[in-house]
Amino acid sequence: RSWQEVNTLLVEADRILNCEEPIRYEGPFHVGVDLGTADVVLMVVDDHARPLAAFLEWAQVVRDGVVVDFVGAVDIVRRLVAKAQARLGVEITQASTSFPPGTDPRLSTNILETAGLDVVQVVDEPSCVGALLDLDRAAVVDIGGGTTGTAILGRGEVVFSDDEPTGGTHITLVIAGRTGLSFQEAEEKKRSPDDWNILDMARPTLQRICDIVGGHIGGHDVEEIILSGGTCCLEGIEAVFTSELGLPVKVPSRPLLLTPLAIASLP
Ligand code: ATP
Repeated sequence: RSWQEVNTLLVEADRILNCEEPIRYEGPFHVGVDLGTADVVLMVVDDHARPLAAFLEWAQVVRDGVVVDFVGAVDIVRRLVAKAQARLGVEITQASTSFPPGTDPRLSTNILETAGLDVVQVVDEPSCVGALLDLDRAAVVDIGGGTTGTAILGRGEVVFSDDEPTGGTHITLVIAGRTGLSFQEAEEKKRSPDDWNILDMARPTLQRICDIVGGHIGGHDVEEIILSGGTCCLEGIEAVFTSELGLPVKVPSRPLLLTPLAIASLP
């Protein structure tokens, strides 16, 4: 799928996010569950990857590839499935899921199976994104809260992956230190899109993240960078990466929904 098409699908997913209003749907559908560190997202798409239902719950059930709240994760998946079933008037018995490269895929499958779902596919996160966008010679860079992970894709397969502990949390800490705000207040300030000083305060951490990514991609055949993860919501991040790394950089219209859409749309 083209970049533009995927961004249109992401905007549609965001428009219906957590929308419980029932719709009549009778065709084939595919379900993806993304068990993130900060949130769990369930997305249902049709045969053309068009989102039919999308539900997100903020929760810290997984951390650094480890499930810290198994029962909580299973409960959330059950709740999200129930909401999607009610919206679409269908029974959901199976879903695909994902895992960060280098972690154990059984963590995700165990959660889905305990929630009563048959697991159709379990594919690492960047490969899902790679399949959605038909990526080749590209780096998918996931900048989350605690870590930045790079996965290099060659012909749709991960040929290299690594992650290091620098991410959005470090930006929040810098903002808190510079402004005297608490961590939570700084976190809210960071997310307010009208404050452009945020990018100036974030720049040194972003440059450090670019150094990390530059180290990851050095020596590999990479022609473009796809940014994902919550930290990519920061306005102006694309320009920082482009100038630091000297490669074309793409930021999806809804960074937090890219992986869930990619999982649900697995071929
Ligand atoms: P990790 O990859 O470290 O395990 P994660 O998968 O939970 O974390 P994400 O949910 O992708 O990470 O991103 C979380 C980070 O994104 C947090 O630092 C949060 O502050 C940041 N973030 C979320 N929304 C925004 C926003 N609108 N602007 C700036 N940063 C944001």
